[in-house]
Amino acid sequence: MSGFRFTIHATDGKARTGLIETPRGEIRTPAFMPVGTAGTVKAMLPENVRATGADIILGNTYHLMLRPGAERIARLGGLHRFMNWPRPILTDSGGFQVMSLAELRRIDERGVTFQSHIDGARHELTPERSMEIQRLLGSDIVMAFDECPALPADRARIEESMRLSMRWAARSREAFGERPGHALFGIQQGGLERDLRAESAEALKAIGFDGYAIGGLAVGEGQAAMFEVLDYAPDMLPADRPRYLMGVGKPDDIVGAVVRGVDMMDCVLPTRSGRTGQAFTRRGVVNIRNARHRDDPRPLDEACACPACRSYSRAYLHHVVRAGEIIGAMLMTWHNLQYYQDLMAGLREAIAGGRLDAFVAEFEALRAEGDIEPL
Ligand SMILES: [Zn+2]
Repeated sequence: MSGFRFTIHATDGKARTGLIETPRGEIRTPAFMPVGTAGTVKAMLPENVRATGADIILGNTYHLMLRPGAERIARLGGLHRFMNWPRPILTDSGGFQVMSLAELRRIDERGVTFQSHIDGARHELTPERSMEIQRLLGSDIVMAFDECPALPADRARIEESMRLSMRWAARSREAFGERPGHALFGIQQGGLERDLRAESAEALKAIGFDGYAIGGLAVGEGQAAMFEVLDYAPDMLPADRPRYLMGVGKPDDIVGAVVRGVDMMDCVLPTRSGRTGQAFTRRGVVNIRNARHRDDPRPLDEACACPACRSYSRAYLHHVVRAGEIIGAMLMTWHNLQYYQDLMAGLREAIAGGRLDAFVAEFEALRAEGDIEPL
């Protein structure tokens, strides 16, 4: 499709590194997409998100359709202009969040009706309406409308849900139409069932998408079960299209997914954890609220170049987070996003250099050492 192109530059085992080109900019893969739920990556200015190395962010259809409304955003020039992020934006379809956040939801063949968690108003989301909303927002990468059960779920429920999602995928493709420079991704479902994953992949390939997501994971099954699916699921999808693992994850989830052939990921973890005082570092998770940091003049992570690590001590971060100061959320979020983007840059370089195994070994060794000794 014109204006949207994916090129793989190097592979190492199943891992790939390359470039997605869009009219709004390039996305280096493997890519981590910070989540800008309601038109903002919480506690960060867009230029600061960019400064961490992010090429693309994610916006949530469900939140934006309820507040401030897709039509309003369109009248104000689209989501990029509205939130001052001129680079690529991927929007989810709203399906997953309706299931997790909305009240009184009802699913039928046509779509989902639900009550807003904000004001109780009735709304309907269908494949056609989801495509319309994502077009109004101006999304560069649009996700097909789907439905997925939380795990564990019985096989019959997963099968029924997957087949409904595949019928909705066909309707999404039809409603999306031809939009040069914009991409539509299909979403593979099927829970932890290999044959259902295969059936879903075949259905999606028959419809034809610009990229393919692996959905229905990171919904409570645990890392071992997720990796078991990722041992085969990416191989079922076209090798020459981007593969996007939705809603993942912790740093070790991300490394494991990239090793298994995933190109794109998103997660609220670095931003959400930042606001609660949890930092991701090369030596694992640090809870800055712990008393051991109260008198510690050292940086959170001395290998990190973010403002939180360059200009502030653990003692200061401890203080502002404990005091509920806004700058605490800002600095901790910035650090976590920087850590995630540094991790992605490291993965890309390692794949390009054919030394991914060594990179992963070092990643695991440093985390196993744990945080620096208290003073
Ligand atoms: Zn930092």
